[in-house]
Amino acid sequence: MVGASAERIHQDIETIANCSSPGPGTNRLSFTPEYWAAVDYVAAQMAALGYERKTTPHGNTRFRRREAGWDEPAVAVGSHLDAVPQGGRFDGVAGVVAGVEIARLLEDLDVRLGRPYELLICAEEEGARFGSVLAGSKALVGRLTQGDLAQMTDAGGTSYLQALGETGEPVWADQGGVLGAADVAAYYELHIEQSVVLETARVPIGIVQGIVGIRQYRVTFSGVANHAGATPMRLRADSLAAAAQAIASVEALATAAASGLTVGTVGMLVNEPNAANVIPARTALSIDLRDTDAAVLEEVAERVLERIARIAEERQVRAQVALTAESAPVVLSSRLRGALVRSAERQGIGYLEMPSGAVHDALEIARVMDAAMIFVPSIGGRSHCPEEDTPCEAVALGVDVLLGAIQTASARAG
Ligand SMILES: [Zn+2]
Repeated sequence: MVGASAERIHQDIETIANCSSPGPGTNRLSFTPEYWAAVDYVAAQMAALGYERKTTPHGNTRFRRREAGWDEPAVAVGSHLDAVPQGGRFDGVAGVVAGVEIARLLEDLDVRLGRPYELLICAEEEGARFGSVLAGSKALVGRLTQGDLAQMTDAGGTSYLQALGETGEPVWADQGGVLGAADVAAYYELHIEQSVVLETARVPIGIVQGIVGIRQYRVTFSGVANHAGATPMRLRADSLAAAAQAIASVEALATAAASGLTVGTVGMLVNEPNAANVIPARTALSIDLRDTDAAVLEEVAERVLERIARIAEERQVRAQVALTAESAPVVLSSRLRGALVRSAERQGIGYLEMPSGAVHDALEIARVMDAAMIFVPSIGGRSHCPEEDTPCEAVALGVDVLLGAIQTASARAG
């Protein structure tokens, strides 16, 4: 099979990287002129292939061939074009460009799919402008309303809907723009891995089994501030020493968890009064636990909380625990994952089945329709920074796997 063109992909990535406000890195917040310049470039590529563009009332962008219409369920490929400040050129963009390249290959190779092909660009995936990650894809599947979007504002006080309205982009309001399985029978997303698992294993493709669930807590230990010199060790209530033990426990319990995939992180620590000669009185820390297995995640969280209670008791400090964020793991479609596995095997392309530790648009989309994802390697695992890089040949290999899978996934039953 003649495969995807790394040169065309390179051209697309470079052109979209130039749709940026001044650097370092890529700066492209949702609904800014540079954002629409990137969408317009994609639209021009798709228009040349006979595709028309629709903007949903949430600012998501859909492309289908004019003659295919919008009534039949499609097989879709998508991702996002918004970027974090000083971000990289590949996050999200690789997936959108993969979708464009597939549209070209369908044409070049004269591939007939059993369903219409759709390219989908989700808005505000990073949450970097309006503060809410996956806002576009959440709205797309009906988990955020127009009212919610009207409430979200950027740093300058402009709301999501105002910013979308200002662009003058005509909005297509059919069915409120909310999609379900009747609109999309299969959604595939290609994304850079943003870590070093594939690079370390020297495997070109990751087939994502599921997206991790998250439990985040804020724990505050309260002890007693006192003189560092005059207070004997056995008479102290040291909140930072309690926190240190809790941090070590998070690491140990996550490492020992049954799935072997749990990750636990303490990324934030605030210590008061934070002076060299004062015993700490108040120490707050964040705990972030993730796993694709809901039962394992629940169990690790329980053990961490038990340990914190015991540490507080033993040290005579008070521990206050607040659950600050929670999301359930999502298992991706076994039908669509199977199509990816078969496609990779047919073409002799190596793959690894792996979880995704980061959230992606596919997470929201998988709540209402069949969705699957593949990863391509990130050089040095770098992401959300100007150094983010992936060889365009690696993206092209991902496109080849996707193209084989969508041919299978678009076949109609019976
Ligand atoms: Zn992304």
